[in-house]
Amino acid sequence: MNPVKIIEKTRDGMYLTKEEIHYMVCEYTSGNIPDYQVSAWLMAIYFKGLSKRETGILTEEMANSGERLNFIEEGKHFLDKHSTGGVADTTTLVVAPIVAAAGGKVGKMSGRGLGFTGGTLDKMEAIPGLQIRLSEDAFRRQVDRCGVAVIGQSRNLAPADGLLYALRDVTGTVESLPLIASSVMSKKLASGAKGIVLDVKCGKAAFMKNIGQAEQLAELMVEIGRRSNRNMFAFVSDMNIPLGSAIGNSLEVDEAVEVLSGGGNERLKEMCFRLAGAMLYIDDLVKSPEDGFRQAMAVVNSGAAMERFKDWLSAQGGTTDWIGRETLTKPINTLDIYAAETGYLQYIEPLELAHIAMELGAGRKRKEDQIDLQVGVKILVQCGEHIKKGMPLVRLYGKDGENLEEYALRAENAFIVAHQYKKMPLLYKIIS
Ligand code: URA
Ligand code: CA
Repeated sequence: MNPVKIIEKTRDGMYLTKEEIHYMVCEYTSGNIPDYQVSAWLMAIYFKGLSKRETGILTEEMANSGERLNFIEEGKHFLDKHSTGGVADTTTLVVAPIVAAAGGKVGKMSGRGLGFTGGTLDKMEAIPGLQIRLSEDAFRRQVDRCGVAVIGQSRNLAPADGLLYALRDVTGTVESLPLIASSVMSKKLASGAKGIVLDVKCGKAAFMKNIGQAEQLAELMVEIGRRSNRNMFAFVSDMNIPLGSAIGNSLEVDEAVEVLSGGGNERLKEMCFRLAGAMLYIDDLVKSPEDGFRQAMAVVNSGAAMERFKDWLSAQGGTTDWIGRETLTKPINTLDIYAAETGYLQYIEPLELAHIAMELGAGRKRKEDQIDLQVGVKILVQCGEHIKKGMPLVRLYGKDGENLEEYALRAENAFIVAHQYKKMPLLYKIIS
């Protein structure tokens, strides 16, 4: 086969065969096609798009480029969820034990945070002792026994995606629906879950700014999953304000504990119950997503989800004796920011707070950066709440000796108080 011919066909909007897509993915991953040809191919895809069928084939080929976990062939129906990334989204830590407590099996591989978006693995590492590397066998046994295991992605999971993503990153070809969908779904398919619930974020602090595009991406990923025989469900949800109240790793674990204890931020709680409800629904454990929502709420209220959370952490070597007694985050150096006026909290700017958290050390600018698991931003109020002048809005957690006053004005300006509150939507679309 000739890569030039395949590039030309793609450039001219002609359909590619399975053999041609296989050839490009396989030979690029093996180092037999140079970056410049694959760059041109990606740019052709960026401009001409791919059909759903081609996108499905590309996804399967990328998933096949490395090891695939074969839980489905073993008759195991593991559940997974994926969010396209946002601010103060600690849903995995809450949803996984809820689903396990309600009878589902959550076997999930997570990634690290990059830029202003957090990653579940980093949050998990804020828990003393917790191991995020388990062998495939230990992973399988833990999901069977405890109902939940979350580990780091093995390096051999969809290696074609790693290579293609790095190339897209430097060739202006990241923002392409078929390329994003195949990138996300190849990793999901390779990690072997039978049921996958997607949360495509849309808004200011999301990859997708526009609802129509976010919807298209969600539908495309659902279709790819179904073609590969997975049970799929997707949400398009808002990312114009932070989802929860905590931005930063140990702070987000503390927030997960709050929600599992029955309290916490209302939007985060609703999203968690919705996600868990959808996971239970696609696994046939409940009759409808709404039933699943109620079931999720019930296992939180009964304490079963919290028990499962502790079992899960213990199974991966993490300590749990702090839960219910103290927070994981130690206030070494904090600064509260107060409201300058009275009214209703209308808006919280997610990017500014996320950037502050990152600058405090909670996130990475580049992959190789070190992060501080204890720093970040804790929002103390929720949208719609009546605010009085002088009330604390947000608490900054810094490293010892850091001058937090430098961030004060930016943090204060992230909050907009109005005379009347106009409700901010949480969900734009449900694809079931
Ligand atoms: N996340 C991914 O894993 N891949 C993309 O292409 C975009 C976001
Ligand atoms: Ca295997």
